[in-house]
Amino acid sequence: MNCPYCHYHDSKVIDSRDVSDGIRRRRQCLACGSRFTTYERLQLAGLFVIKKDQRREEFNKDKLLTGLRKACEKRPLPTGAVDKLADDIEVELYRMGKAEIPSAVIGDMVMERLKKLDYIAYIRFASVYRQFTDITALKQEIDNLVNGEEKAPRLTSQLPLLPAEELETVTERGRRGGGKHG
Ligand SMILES: [Zn+2]
Repeated sequence: MNCPYCHYHDSKVIDSRDVSDGIRRRRQCLACGSRFTTYERLQLAGLFVIKKDQRREEFNKDKLLTGLRKACEKRPLPTGAVDKLADDIEVELYRMGKAEIPSAVIGDMVMERLKKLDYIAYIRFASVYRQFTDITALKQEIDNLVNGEEKAPRLTSQLPLLPAEELETVTERGRRGGGKHG
């Protein structure tokens, strides 16, 4: 910690005490003699998921795996494919280097990968994740698959870092805007 007054790189601790969430240290700059305070806090390495209702929940890979296994149940997938998918997503999430990630971003990451892995698993997952309210929306998703991705890009995939609420709006608009297939 550099001195905030002269930016000298070294200081001595003149007082140290425990506070509720860490350690408070009173320091004195070795160059200019100014005094300043630093706080040392424990930084959790955990990754938090911001849910649709804005609540935070620690990322749980087992939960992700459960969802994936449900979607991939009885599908002719190579052994370990589902675990690998969960591993890949976990690695990518941590690689993003963010402390909090909207659940919609994770959902889109799953959808993107499931689409390449198995269409039925993809539709199953989508039916839960997108919470299709009627058969038309589900049919459109299937049409999108049949007609190819370039014809119906997922708006949410292009805007992965919007807050969940805005994502919802985009998704709604996307659903209403489509429906010209068939
Ligand atoms: Zn100083």
